[in-house]
Amino acid sequence: MKTVAVSIVTPDGPVYESEVEMVSTKSLTGDLGILPGHVPMVAPLAIGSVRLKKGKEVELVAVSGGFLEVKPDKVTILAQSAERADDIDIERAIRAKKRAEERLRQQAQSNIDFKRAELALRRALNRISVAQQNK
Ligand code: ATP
Repeated sequence: MKTVAVSIVTPDGPVYESEVEMVSTKSLTGDLGILPGHVPMVAPLAIGSVRLKKGKEVELVAVSGGFLEVKPDKVTILAQSAERADDIDIERAIRAKKRAEERLRQQAQSNIDFKRAELALRRALNRISVAQQNK
């Protein structure tokens, strides 16, 4: 089976590095499936999961937006933050979700940045979803 090298990198350092058979994720304009030999491209990523397929194994990584770059022999994901499913602290994500929901509820009475709370909620929901799919 052909493979392609994948790196997922954040400002805090590398999170994932491996050879895989397929990378699936979500760009801002739609779903992306990258196989070895994919044409070079760059795409902005949504808050979502990156699915890395290697033989019978599938690994999930939660990413909070960023960019995906495809070169002939390498896929690089530069993400604002990224966590392998096993490394997600689900209790922390649930707390973040509750905080964000509370901020969104208070929005009517205050000037709290709605967009910021909405993004925090999406990051938390994404982490919860990736951690749950990993069970
Ligand atoms: P929180 O309010 O819990 O910090 P957040 O969405 O504001 O959540 P980020 O700013 O996206 O957090 O990330 C800050 C750092 O914490 C990053 O390194 C990210 O990978 C890590 N991180 C955030 N939430 C979790 C989690 N639930 N489990 C593991 N790592 C996390």
